[in-house]
Amino acid sequence: MSRRPTLATIWLDGCSGCHMSFLDMDERLLEVAARADLVYSPLVDAKVYPESVDIVLVEGAVSTDEDMARIRLVRSRTKILVALGDCAVTTNVPGMRNVFADAQPLFERAYVDNVTVNLGMPSKGLPRHLPKTLPVHKVVKVDVFLPGCPPSADLIFDTVVALLDGRVPETATRARFGR
Ligand code: SF4
Repeated sequence: MSRRPTLATIWLDGCSGCHMSFLDMDERLLEVAARADLVYSPLVDAKVYPESVDIVLVEGAVSTDEDMARIRLVRSRTKILVALGDCAVTTNVPGMRNVFADAQPLFERAYVDNVTVNLGMPSKGLPRHLPKTLPVHKVVKVDVFLPGCPPSADLIFDTVVALLDGRVPETATRARFGR
């Protein structure tokens, strides 16, 4: 990486816990900020994923057509993609719905059966759910898997620093790194 490295994070079908763990790096965030520019993230105000990103941390599984489009765009614009946390790596919590052939009864349970206020399925502005929730590597190539629910701040820090150093992270499972 000849220019100053760029870092991004995105959030698909996850609970934000992985991003909370990212923030738990605390003062070490300053070390990361001293070495890389955070160019896109729920934590910053950028609206469009940049054309060329060095490292992205991806929280969450791929559950909707919107998630699918986002992760494909991110993959096409990023050198190193890290699956951050068990939802991204295995589907974890959002994948629990995969035991059902159809997600519709779950929505009715959530929006009709178990509510007393604003009862009814929302009808506007919702992305279409895929037949099954998918781990990120089933949709795009993943370079580094970082498991945990959430991965610890130490693990995230060690991984980001290793990648900025151009090293394979010792703490993460390597997968097709260095393409
Ligand atoms: Fe939340 Fe755990 Fe999934 Fe991270 S891996 S998004 S902490 S449920």
